[in-house]
Amino acid sequence: MCYNSPPGKDVLTLLKSTFVLMQIHSSCSLKPYNTFGIDLPAAQLVRLMDEEELAPIGDLAQGTAPRVLGGGSNILLTHELKDLIVKNELKGINLLEENEQHTWLEVKAGEVWHDFVMYAIAQNLGGIENLALIPGCVGAAPIQNIGAYGVEVRQTIDEVIAWHWEEQRYLSFKNEDCRFGYRDSIFKREMKDRLIITSVVFRLDKVHCLNTSYGAVQQQLEIMGVSEASVKSVAEAVMAIRRSKLPDPKTLGNAGSFFKNPTITRQQFDSLCAHHPDLPSYPASEGQVKIPAGWLIENCGWKGYREGAVGVHEKQALVLVNYGGAKGADLYQLSEKILRSVLEKFDITLEREVNIW
Ligand code: FAD
Ligand code: NAP
Repeated sequence: MCYNSPPGKDVLTLLKSTFVLMQIHSSCSLKPYNTFGIDLPAAQLVRLMDEEELAPIGDLAQGTAPRVLGGGSNILLTHELKDLIVKNELKGINLLEENEQHTWLEVKAGEVWHDFVMYAIAQNLGGIENLALIPGCVGAAPIQNIGAYGVEVRQTIDEVIAWHWEEQRYLSFKNEDCRFGYRDSIFKREMKDRLIITSVVFRLDKVHCLNTSYGAVQQQLEIMGVSEASVKSVAEAVMAIRRSKLPDPKTLGNAGSFFKNPTITRQQFDSLCAHHPDLPSYPASEGQVKIPAGWLIENCGWKGYREGAVGVHEKQALVLVNYGGAKGADLYQLSEKILRSVLEKFDITLEREVNIW
C-alpha cells in the first residue's frame, strides 16, 4: 500500500509492506546528509529504522544493492544519484556479556559514534577514548577501521553483523574476518556495496590500557594539569585538540582527511630524504614507512589555497573544504591537482580516503 504526500520538491511516500511502514523520500536534496554540504538530489532515500525493513528495501532496489548512508562524513557527492539510498537510523546499545576485564556491547549501526564513545566513558569502559569526536555512525566505523591518536577501532571490535542485500540474510564477521588494515577492511574491498552493517559488537576494557603515544595528547594533558590520565581525561584531551585544529562541518563543509597517509618502502624513503632531509616519518607495518600526507601537500604549497568555493584548510592541508555552494566535481578536480603535484614533487601517489559517490 502506498500513501503519497502532495507533489513537491521532496516527495515523501509511506510504503506499507506486510509488516512494516517505510518512509521513502523522492527527489530530496542530500545537502543535510553529507558533511561537505554538497547539494545534489537523490532519486530515492529511505530511512531505515527497523531491521524488518531490510528485505522490503532489497525488493524496492530491484536487484541492485542500495547505497548506504551513515552520517555522510566520509563521502563526496559528485553527481546526481539514481540508486536507492538507505539512511541507516538503527538505534540501540545492548549489554551482551561481561567478566572482570571486559564488557561486550552490541551497538546498532545508526548510533552516532561520538555518543557511543561518551556512553562508554560514562560507564568507565576503555578502548575508544582516543576516537572521541570522530563524526559519523557506528556502522561506518569498521569500514575504514577509523583511527586517531594511535588507536584504531579494530582493537575493540569483536564482531560485525551485516545484512547481505543479494543473499537476503545476515552475515557475521569476527574480527579476523574483517581483514582490518590501515584505514582499510574487507568492507571497502570484497564486500563493498554488497551489504549493510546493522550492528557492531565491541569488547571494551574495564582494566584500562591508555594510549598517550601521540605528542599532542601528552602536551594537552599537561596543559590540562592531568598527572594521572584516565579514559575521561584522554577523551577530553583529544576533543580539545580536535576542536582547536579541525574545521567543524557545521560551519565549514569538509570530510576530514581527504587522503590517506601513504606508506613507502625504507629504500624509497632513504632516497627521498636525500632531497628532503626534513621529511617526517613513522614506522608502519612490514618494515614500511608512513609519511604524513598533510606534510607532502603543504610542501607542494597547497595549505590555505582557495579556488572559488573550494579550498585546502588553512590549518590542516589534508582537509579539503567547501566555503559554500561548492560542487562536488570541483572538490574532486582540486583533489586531482593535489594528487598530481605530490606525485611530481615526491614520486608518491596519494590515495583518497573519502568515498567518491
Ligand atoms: P558515511 O560518510 O555515511 O559513509 C562512508 C562509507 O561507508 C560510504 O561508502 C557508505 O556507503 C559506507 N557505509 C556507511 N554506513 C554503512 C553501513 N552501516 N553499512 C555499510 N556501509 C556503510 N576518520 C577517521 O578514521 N579518523 C578520524 O580521526 C576522522 N576525523 C574526522 C574529522 C572530521 C571533521 C570529519 C568530517 C571526518 C573525519 N573522519 C575521520 C572520517 C569519518 O568521520 C569516518 O570515516 C566515519 O566513520 C564515517 O562515518 P559516516 O557514518 O559519516 O559514514
Ligand atoms: P598530526 O598530529 O599533525 O600528525 C600528522 C600525521 O602524522 C598523522 O596523520 C599521524 O598518522 C602521524 N603521526 C603523528 N604522530 C604520530 C605518532 N606518534 N605515531 C605514528 N604516527 C603519528 O595529525 P592530525 O592531522 O592533527 O590528526 C591527529 C589524529 O587524528 C591522527 O591520528 C589522524 O589520523 C586523526 N584524524 C583523522 C582524520 C580523518 O578524517 N581520517 C581527520 C582528522 C584527524 P595517523 O593518521 O596514522 O594517526
